[in-house]
Amino acid sequence: MIYKFLKKFFLSLVLILFSCSYNEMSTIKNFKFDKSNELILYTEKKLESEFRKEKEKIKKNYIVVIDPGHGGKDPGAIGVNGTFEKDINLSFAKIIKAVLSSNKIKVKLTRTDDRYLFLRERINFAEKLKADLFISIHADGSQNRKASGFSIFSLSNKASDKEANQLAQRENKSDFIGGLKIRHSDPLIKDNLIKIFQRQTMNESSKIANIVINNIKKLSIKNRGHRNAGFVVLKSLTTPSILVELGFITNKKEEKLLNNKRYLTKISKIISLSIFNYFNQIS
Ligand code: ZN
Repeated sequence: MIYKFLKKFFLSLVLILFSCSYNEMSTIKNFKFDKSNELILYTEKKLESEFRKEKEKIKKNYIVVIDPGHGGKDPGAIGVNGTFEKDINLSFAKIIKAVLSSNKIKVKLTRTDDRYLFLRERINFAEKLKADLFISIHADGSQNRKASGFSIFSLSNKASDKEANQLAQRENKSDFIGGLKIRHSDPLIKDNLIKIFQRQTMNESSKIANIVINNIKKLSIKNRGHRNAGFVVLKSLTTPSILVELGFITNKKEEKLLNNKRYLTKISKIISLSIFNYFNQIS
């Protein structure tokens, strides 16, 4: 009896200590500045050469799931000139699939046509494939026609940003949060395992989001930074997940850009470069 209790106690202690000792690794900040301390932006040529260089460095095999947000009966945000967010998301997903795929990186889409998917179905799809990364693609909408810019979200318990929470609520309305998949007879061990997985996955998600936003800064694309929110699609326990808002479909100028294949290809290149950076960091 005592032995059993001690065994359980020490096992729990090890799990707790392990979860506490995980330090969030520092994110890369390889910015270059000119003499007047201005950030040197990437030219298309520089982006292309960085892209190729990092792509060639990938040694292991990876699976990336791209999730075009909304679909079917759910159009998402609607643009000033009537563009549906769901269509932009799908076009972008197909472009980034073509850009990112290689013999090392397999890219799967949660939907390849105009269909409705539950939010949990999207996460389950990635978890079943044991994906190394899940990226949900969206285009923002606002009552304020002037609102603009690229944003990236990862999950945090401290999702305190009011605007971020409102956005999370809007994206979450079409589904409920599913159950957890960890099965263990001991609830204490189970709880600790969940905490460890969650912390690890959250840290990885945050790391990727920071790499993406740091790279976005090297292009002349307006960005609203890396923020935290409680989107359902970011709640995978095992697959690092980020949500990208490509820009505001409700902003006339950005709606036009989001319909421009060249612009979408440029964003897909910078996100793909960030994914290569991340994979090269963790390998
Ligand atoms: Zn959306």
